[in-house]
Amino acid sequence: MTDITLTLDEVRTLATQVLTENGCDPANADAVAAVITAAERDGCHSHGLMRLAGYVASLKSGKVNGHAEPKVEQLAPSVVRVNGNGGFAPLALARGRDALIEAARTNGIAAMALVDVHHFAALWGEVEPVAEAGLCALACVSYKPVVIPAGGSKALYGTNPLAFGWPRRDKPPLIFDQASSVMARGEVMLAAREGHELPAGVGVDTDGEATTDPNKVLDGAMLAFGGHKGSSIAMMIELFAGALIGECFSFEAAERDNNDGGPPSGGELMIAMDPSRFGDADGWADHAEKLFAKIEEQQDARLPSARRYQNRIKTAQEGVRVSEKAYAAVKALSE
Ligand code: NDP
Repeated sequence: MTDITLTLDEVRTLATQVLTENGCDPANADAVAAVITAAERDGCHSHGLMRLAGYVASLKSGKVNGHAEPKVEQLAPSVVRVNGNGGFAPLALARGRDALIEAARTNGIAAMALVDVHHFAALWGEVEPVAEAGLCALACVSYKPVVIPAGGSKALYGTNPLAFGWPRRDKPPLIFDQASSVMARGEVMLAAREGHELPAGVGVDTDGEATTDPNKVLDGAMLAFGGHKGSSIAMMIELFAGALIGECFSFEAAERDNNDGGPPSGGELMIAMDPSRFGDADGWADHAEKLFAKIEEQQDARLPSARRYQNRIKTAQEGVRVSEKAYAAVKALSE
Protein backbone atom coordinates (compact mmCIF):
# COMPACT_ATOMS: atom_id res chain seq x y z
CA MET A 1 0.00 0.00 0.00
CA THR A 2 1.50 3.36 -1.01
CA ASP A 3 1.26 6.70 0.75
CA ILE A 4 -0.35 9.83 -0.56
CA THR A 5 0.80 13.36 0.25
CA LEU A 6 -1.58 16.06 1.44
CA THR A 7 -0.96 19.75 2.02
CA LEU A 8 -1.97 21.13 5.40
CA ASP A 9 -4.84 22.98 3.71
CA GLU A 10 -6.06 19.68 2.29
CA VAL A 11 -5.86 18.02 5.71
CA ARG A 12 -7.85 20.85 7.27
CA THR A 13 -10.45 20.91 4.50
CA LEU A 14 -10.90 17.14 4.72
CA ALA A 15 -11.26 17.17 8.51
CA THR A 16 -13.71 20.09 8.37
CA GLN A 17 -15.80 18.35 5.73
CA VAL A 18 -15.97 15.06 7.67
CA LEU A 19 -16.95 16.85 10.89
CA THR A 20 -19.51 19.11 9.23
CA GLU A 21 -21.16 16.25 7.38
CA ASN A 22 -21.43 14.29 10.62
CA GLY A 23 -23.09 16.93 12.75
CA CYS A 24 -20.66 19.69 13.72
CA ASP A 25 -21.57 23.30 13.09
CA PRO A 26 -18.88 25.39 11.33
CA ALA A 27 -17.35 26.81 14.53
CA ASN A 28 -16.96 23.41 16.19
CA ALA A 29 -15.78 21.73 13.00
CA ASP A 30 -13.18 24.44 12.41
CA ALA A 31 -11.83 24.27 15.98
CA VAL A 32 -11.44 20.46 15.89
CA ALA A 33 -10.04 20.48 12.34
CA ALA A 34 -7.38 23.00 13.42
CA VAL A 35 -6.26 20.64 16.22
CA ILE A 36 -6.14 17.64 13.87
CA THR A 37 -4.18 19.63 11.27
CA ALA A 38 -1.66 20.83 13.88
CA ALA A 39 -1.11 17.21 14.99
CA GLU A 40 -0.42 16.10 11.40
CA ARG A 41 1.80 19.15 10.85
CA ASP A 42 3.98 18.25 13.85
CA GLY A 43 4.18 14.53 13.08
CA CYS A 44 1.89 13.50 15.97
CA HIS A 45 -0.22 11.23 13.77
CA SER A 46 -1.84 9.44 16.71
CA HIS A 47 -3.81 12.68 17.36
CA GLY A 48 -4.35 13.61 13.71
CA LEU A 49 -6.66 12.30 11.01
CA MET A 50 -6.91 8.88 12.64
CA ARG A 51 -8.90 10.47 15.49
CA LEU A 52 -11.70 11.50 13.13
CA ALA A 53 -13.36 8.08 13.43
CA GLY A 54 -13.74 8.60 17.19
CA TYR A 55 -14.96 12.20 16.80
CA VAL A 56 -17.55 11.04 14.26
CA ALA A 57 -18.64 8.08 16.41
CA SER A 58 -19.41 10.46 19.28
CA LEU A 59 -21.36 12.81 17.05
CA LYS A 60 -23.36 9.93 15.61
CA SER A 61 -24.12 8.36 18.98
CA GLY A 62 -25.32 11.73 20.25
CA LYS A 63 -22.81 11.75 23.11
CA VAL A 64 -21.17 14.95 21.88
CA ASN A 65 -22.98 18.14 20.97
CA GLY A 66 -21.68 19.22 17.56
CA HIS A 67 -23.44 22.56 17.94
CA ALA A 68 -22.03 23.32 21.40
CA GLU A 69 -21.91 26.99 22.34
CA PRO A 70 -19.31 27.27 25.14
CA LYS A 71 -20.01 29.80 27.88
CA VAL A 72 -17.14 31.74 29.50
CA GLU A 73 -17.52 32.96 33.10
CA GLN A 74 -15.17 34.77 35.47
CA LEU A 75 -15.51 32.95 38.84
CA ALA A 76 -12.85 35.09 40.55
CA PRO A 77 -10.33 37.69 39.32
CA SER A 78 -7.91 34.90 38.44
CA VAL A 79 -10.30 32.01 37.77
CA VAL A 80 -12.01 31.56 34.42
CA ARG A 81 -14.50 28.78 33.83
CA VAL A 82 -15.66 27.62 30.43
CA ASN A 83 -18.71 25.39 30.25
CA GLY A 84 -18.26 23.45 27.03
CA ASN A 85 -21.97 22.66 26.66
CA GLY A 86 -21.23 18.99 25.94
CA GLY A 87 -19.05 19.72 22.92
CA PHE A 88 -15.49 18.85 21.92
CA ALA A 89 -12.84 20.69 23.92
CA PRO A 90 -11.16 22.75 21.14
CA LEU A 91 -13.90 25.39 20.76
CA ALA A 92 -14.24 25.78 24.55
CA LEU A 93 -10.47 26.26 24.83
CA ALA A 94 -10.43 28.79 22.02
CA ARG A 95 -13.31 30.73 23.57
CA GLY A 96 -11.71 30.87 27.05
CA ARG A 97 -8.07 31.46 26.11
CA ASP A 98 -8.15 35.26 25.84
CA ALA A 99 -9.83 35.57 29.25
CA LEU A 100 -7.18 33.27 30.79
CA ILE A 101 -4.32 35.27 29.26
CA GLU A 102 -5.81 38.57 30.34
CA ALA A 103 -6.41 37.32 33.91
CA ALA A 104 -2.82 36.01 34.14
CA ARG A 105 -1.41 39.33 32.94
CA THR A 106 -3.58 41.26 35.38
CA ASN A 107 -2.99 39.03 38.41
CA GLY A 108 0.36 37.39 37.65
CA ILE A 109 -1.24 33.95 37.72
CA ALA A 110 -4.62 32.63 36.60
CA ALA A 111 -6.41 29.35 35.97
CA MET A 112 -9.01 28.19 33.49
CA ALA A 113 -11.38 25.34 34.33
CA LEU A 114 -13.04 23.61 31.40
CA VAL A 115 -16.14 21.62 32.29
CA ASP A 116 -18.56 19.52 30.26
CA VAL A 117 -16.13 18.96 27.41
CA HIS A 118 -14.99 15.88 25.49
CA HIS A 119 -11.20 15.82 25.18
CA PHE A 120 -9.48 13.79 22.45
CA ALA A 121 -6.36 15.79 21.62
CA ALA A 122 -2.71 16.24 22.55
CA LEU A 123 -2.17 18.93 25.16
CA TRP A 124 0.90 20.60 23.64
CA GLY A 125 -1.33 22.42 21.15
CA GLU A 126 -3.23 23.94 24.07
CA VAL A 127 -0.29 25.33 26.05
CA GLU A 128 1.54 26.54 22.94
CA PRO A 129 -0.66 29.60 22.19
CA VAL A 130 -0.58 30.61 25.87
CA ALA A 131 3.23 30.38 25.90
CA GLU A 132 3.36 32.24 22.57
CA ALA A 133 1.49 35.03 24.35
CA GLY A 134 4.47 35.27 26.73
CA LEU A 135 3.10 33.21 29.63
CA CYS A 136 4.19 29.98 31.33
CA ALA A 137 1.43 27.41 31.05
CA LEU A 138 0.39 24.11 32.57
CA ALA A 139 -2.50 21.94 31.39
CA CYS A 140 -3.82 18.58 32.51
CA VAL A 141 -6.77 16.35 31.67
CA SER A 142 -8.04 12.96 32.85
CA TYR A 143 -9.62 10.24 30.73
CA LYS A 144 -11.10 6.81 31.56
CA PRO A 145 -9.53 4.34 34.01
CA VAL A 146 -6.64 2.49 32.35
CA VAL A 147 -3.75 3.04 34.83
CA ILE A 148 -3.46 1.28 38.21
CA PRO A 149 -2.43 3.25 41.30
CA ALA A 150 1.03 2.19 42.59
CA GLY A 151 0.67 -0.99 44.63
CA GLY A 152 -2.87 -1.63 43.37
CA SER A 153 -4.15 -4.09 40.80
CA LYS A 154 -7.10 -2.39 39.08
CA ALA A 155 -7.19 0.51 36.61
CA LEU A 156 -8.32 3.71 38.30
CA TYR A 157 -6.52 6.67 36.71
CA GLY A 158 -6.64 7.82 33.10
CA THR A 159 -3.42 8.12 31.09
CA ASN A 160 -3.69 11.69 32.38
CA PRO A 161 -1.30 13.89 30.37
CA LEU A 162 0.41 16.97 31.80
CA ALA A 163 1.77 19.67 29.50
CA PHE A 164 4.09 22.57 30.33
CA GLY A 165 4.96 25.55 28.17
CA TRP A 166 7.74 28.12 28.65
CA PRO A 167 7.90 31.27 26.47
CA ARG A 168 11.19 32.07 24.71
CA ARG A 169 12.31 35.27 23.07
CA ASP A 170 12.54 34.96 19.26
CA LYS A 171 11.99 31.19 19.43
CA PRO A 172 8.97 28.94 19.65
CA PRO A 173 8.10 28.04 23.25
CA LEU A 174 9.67 25.11 25.04
CA ILE A 175 6.97 22.54 25.67
CA PHE A 176 6.74 19.11 27.19
CA ASP A 177 3.58 17.07 27.10
CA GLN A 178 3.55 13.61 28.60
CA ALA A 179 1.09 10.97 29.68
CA SER A 180 1.25 9.70 33.29
CA SER A 181 1.39 6.11 32.03
CA VAL A 182 4.67 4.43 31.08
CA MET A 183 3.55 4.39 27.45
CA ALA A 184 0.78 6.15 25.57
CA ARG A 185 -2.23 3.85 25.08
CA GLY A 186 -2.09 4.47 21.33
CA GLU A 187 1.40 2.89 21.28
CA VAL A 188 0.07 -0.22 23.04
CA MET A 189 -2.73 -0.43 20.45
CA LEU A 190 -0.19 -0.08 17.67
CA ALA A 191 1.93 -2.91 19.15
CA ALA A 192 -1.20 -5.10 19.36
CA ARG A 193 -2.08 -4.34 15.75
CA GLU A 194 1.44 -5.04 14.50
CA GLY A 195 2.02 -8.09 16.72
CA HIS A 196 4.94 -6.65 18.74
CA GLU A 197 5.75 -7.48 22.35
CA LEU A 198 5.84 -4.53 24.74
CA PRO A 199 8.90 -3.69 26.84
CA ALA A 200 8.66 -5.00 30.42
CA GLY A 201 6.93 -2.73 32.91
CA VAL A 202 4.22 -1.22 30.71
CA GLY A 203 1.22 -3.08 32.10
CA VAL A 204 -0.50 -6.06 33.65
CA ASP A 205 -3.12 -8.62 32.57
CA THR A 206 -6.64 -8.96 33.98
CA ASP A 207 -5.21 -10.92 36.96
CA GLY A 208 -2.81 -8.08 37.78
CA GLU A 209 0.19 -10.12 36.57
CA ALA A 210 2.97 -8.36 34.66
CA THR A 211 2.86 -9.08 30.92
CA THR A 212 4.51 -7.88 27.71
CA ASP A 213 1.54 -8.97 25.56
CA PRO A 214 -0.13 -5.74 24.32
CA ASN A 215 -3.55 -7.41 23.96
CA LYS A 216 -3.42 -8.56 27.58
CA VAL A 217 -2.40 -5.07 28.68
CA LEU A 218 -5.31 -3.55 26.74
CA ASP A 219 -7.67 -5.97 28.53
CA GLY A 220 -5.85 -5.47 31.83
CA ALA A 221 -4.26 -2.20 32.90
CA MET A 222 -1.25 0.05 32.42
CA LEU A 223 1.32 1.23 34.95
CA ALA A 224 2.18 4.82 35.76
CA PHE A 225 5.68 5.99 34.76
CA GLY A 226 8.24 6.04 37.57
CA GLY A 227 6.25 3.83 39.97
CA HIS A 228 4.67 5.70 42.88
CA LYS A 229 5.93 9.06 41.54
CA GLY A 230 4.02 8.92 38.26
CA SER A 231 1.09 7.42 40.13
CA SER A 232 0.93 10.50 42.38
CA ILE A 233 1.06 12.81 39.36
CA ALA A 234 -1.84 10.87 37.80
CA MET A 235 -3.74 11.28 41.09
CA MET A 236 -3.01 15.03 41.17
CA ILE A 237 -4.41 15.34 37.65
CA GLU A 238 -7.57 13.46 38.69
CA LEU A 239 -7.98 16.06 41.47
CA PHE A 240 -7.18 19.12 39.32
CA ALA A 241 -9.33 18.11 36.34
CA GLY A 242 -12.01 16.58 38.58
CA ALA A 243 -12.70 17.48 42.23
CA LEU A 244 -11.20 20.99 42.02
CA ILE A 245 -13.43 22.13 39.18
CA GLY A 246 -16.60 20.14 39.86
CA GLU A 247 -15.94 17.56 37.16
CA CYS A 248 -15.66 13.78 37.14
CA PHE A 249 -12.72 11.48 37.88
CA SER A 250 -11.68 8.98 35.22
CA PHE A 251 -13.63 6.18 36.89
CA GLU A 252 -16.74 8.37 36.97
CA ALA A 253 -16.24 9.32 33.30
CA ALA A 254 -16.28 5.61 32.45
CA GLU A 255 -19.53 5.12 34.37
CA ARG A 256 -21.31 7.70 32.23
CA ASP A 257 -19.57 6.93 28.91
CA ASN A 258 -21.36 5.00 26.17
CA ASN A 259 -18.11 3.47 24.84
CA ASP A 260 -18.75 4.66 21.30
CA GLY A 261 -15.01 4.95 20.68
CA GLY A 262 -14.93 8.72 21.07
CA PRO A 263 -13.79 10.87 23.98
CA PRO A 264 -15.56 10.65 27.36
CA SER A 265 -17.04 13.69 29.05
CA GLY A 266 -14.89 15.43 31.64
CA GLY A 267 -12.90 18.49 32.65
CA GLU A 268 -9.52 20.11 32.10
CA LEU A 269 -7.45 22.56 34.11
CA MET A 270 -5.06 25.10 32.63
CA ILE A 271 -2.82 27.45 34.64
CA ALA A 272 -1.03 30.48 33.19
CA MET A 273 1.71 32.58 34.83
CA ASP A 274 3.15 35.88 33.68
CA PRO A 275 6.94 35.53 34.18
CA SER A 276 7.39 39.29 34.21
CA ARG A 277 5.38 39.43 37.46
CA PHE A 278 7.48 37.07 39.60
CA GLY A 279 10.38 39.30 40.57
CA ASP A 280 12.83 39.02 37.66
CA ALA A 281 11.02 40.91 34.94
CA ASP A 282 14.17 41.74 32.99
CA GLY A 283 16.16 38.57 33.57
CA TRP A 284 13.91 35.51 33.48
CA ALA A 285 14.08 34.88 29.74
CA ASP A 286 17.87 35.07 29.37
CA HIS A 287 18.35 33.14 32.60
CA ALA A 288 16.22 30.28 31.24
CA GLU A 289 18.24 30.23 28.02
CA LYS A 290 21.38 29.50 30.08
CA LEU A 291 19.75 26.31 31.35
CA PHE A 292 18.59 25.30 27.87
CA ALA A 293 22.12 25.86 26.50
CA LYS A 294 23.58 23.66 29.25
CA ILE A 295 21.13 20.88 28.33
CA GLU A 296 21.85 21.12 24.64
CA GLU A 297 25.63 21.14 25.04
CA GLN A 298 25.41 17.56 26.35
CA GLN A 299 25.73 14.90 23.70
CA ASP A 300 22.36 13.41 22.68
CA ALA A 301 20.44 15.66 25.08
CA ARG A 302 17.70 17.78 23.50
CA LEU A 303 14.89 20.02 24.60
CA PRO A 304 11.38 18.60 24.65
CA SER A 305 9.37 19.91 21.66
CA ALA A 306 12.49 20.05 19.43
CA ARG A 307 11.30 16.95 17.55
CA ARG A 308 7.88 18.49 16.86
CA TYR A 309 9.33 21.79 15.66
CA GLN A 310 11.65 19.93 13.29
CA ASN A 311 8.69 17.96 11.96
CA ARG A 312 6.82 21.22 11.47
CA ILE A 313 9.55 22.56 9.18
CA LYS A 314 9.71 19.26 7.28
CA THR A 315 5.94 19.12 6.78
CA ALA A 316 5.86 22.70 5.48
CA GLN A 317 8.29 21.57 2.75
CA GLU A 318 7.04 18.07 2.05
CA GLY A 319 3.39 17.94 3.13
CA VAL A 320 1.72 15.22 5.22
CA ARG A 321 2.11 11.59 4.23
CA VAL A 322 -0.91 9.38 4.83
CA SER A 323 -1.31 5.74 3.80
CA GLU A 324 -3.93 5.16 1.10
CA LYS A 325 -5.77 2.88 3.52
CA ALA A 326 -5.91 5.55 6.25
CA TYR A 327 -6.97 8.18 3.69
CA ALA A 328 -9.74 5.93 2.35
CA ALA A 329 -10.97 5.30 5.91
CA VAL A 330 -11.21 9.06 6.55
CA LYS A 331 -12.95 9.72 3.22
CA ALA A 332 -15.45 6.96 4.02
CA LEU A 333 -16.51 8.90 7.11
CA SER A 334 -18.07 11.56 4.89
CA GLU A 335 -19.84 9.16 2.55
P1 NDP B 1 6.16 11.02 24.68
O1 NDP B 1 6.69 10.08 25.72
O2 NDP B 1 6.35 10.65 23.26
O3 NDP B 1 6.81 12.45 24.86
C1 NDP B 1 6.62 13.13 26.07
C2 NDP B 1 7.38 14.44 26.06
O4 NDP B 1 8.77 14.17 26.18
C3 NDP B 1 7.21 15.25 24.78
O5 NDP B 1 7.09 16.59 25.12
C4 NDP B 1 8.50 14.97 24.01
O6 NDP B 1 8.88 16.03 23.16
C5 NDP B 1 9.47 14.82 25.14
N1 NDP B 1 10.62 13.99 24.79
C6 NDP B 1 10.58 12.76 24.21
N2 NDP B 1 11.83 12.29 24.09
C7 NDP B 1 12.67 13.23 24.60
C8 NDP B 1 14.07 13.32 24.78
N3 NDP B 1 14.88 12.34 24.37
N4 NDP B 1 14.56 14.42 25.36
C9 NDP B 1 13.76 15.41 25.77
N5 NDP B 1 12.42 15.39 25.64
C10 NDP B 1 11.88 14.31 25.07
O7 NDP B 1 4.61 11.34 24.93
P2 NDP B 1 3.48 10.44 25.63
O8 NDP B 1 3.46 9.16 24.93
O9 NDP B 1 3.66 10.45 27.10
O10 NDP B 1 2.16 11.29 25.30
C11 NDP B 1 1.64 11.29 23.97
C12 NDP B 1 0.59 12.34 23.73
O11 NDP B 1 -0.67 11.81 24.04
C13 NDP B 1 0.69 13.66 24.46
O12 NDP B 1 0.65 14.69 23.48
C14 NDP B 1 -0.55 13.73 25.33
O13 NDP B 1 -1.12 15.03 25.47
C15 NDP B 1 -1.50 12.82 24.59
N6 NDP B 1 -2.50 12.24 25.47
C16 NDP B 1 -3.78 12.70 25.44
C17 NDP B 1 -4.75 12.16 26.28
C18 NDP B 1 -6.16 12.67 26.31
O14 NDP B 1 -6.96 12.14 27.03
N7 NDP B 1 -6.50 13.69 25.56
C19 NDP B 1 -4.42 11.05 27.19
C20 NDP B 1 -3.04 10.69 27.19
C21 NDP B 1 -2.11 11.25 26.34
P3 NDP B 1 8.78 15.88 21.53
O15 NDP B 1 7.32 16.02 21.22
O16 NDP B 1 9.65 16.93 20.97
O17 NDP B 1 9.29 14.49 21.21
